[in-house]
Amino acid sequence: MEKEICKIVLGKYRKRFFLGRLVKKTIGTGHSVKFDGNWVLKREEERGDVLGFYHSHPNGNHKLSERDIKTMAAWIDCFDKTLICIIESPLELELYDFYPSPSRVYFNSRWFIKIGSLILGRVK
Ligand SMILES: [Zn+2]
Repeated sequence: MEKEICKIVLGKYRKRFFLGRLVKKTIGTGHSVKFDGNWVLKREEERGDVLGFYHSHPNGNHKLSERDIKTMAAWIDCFDKTLICIIESPLELELYDFYPSPSRVYFNSRWFIKIGSLILGRVK
């Protein structure tokens, strides 16, 4: 069974656009993955360039799971800024942009392109 992978997306917003790069790949089990949350917190405190997270659903679809939504809600509450969540499945690559409280809404964006470890996209 293919393992789930996770990466951190670093970069900056320029108005509604962002250019990010995928860093710190971690490999998990078939259906979950842990990443270094402390590293992410420290990085955001020091550089303020955490754009979000990338992970794979090796055997699933590209939809957000309950856990994905809860995890993203926790991170946006923590950082109080828009964060993206990119999900790679065997068939699709999907990008969701999450917005801070109180609304905590998220959208499924088709406005992005991935070239190697670079992601160029647009949020709402
Ligand atoms: Zn997931």
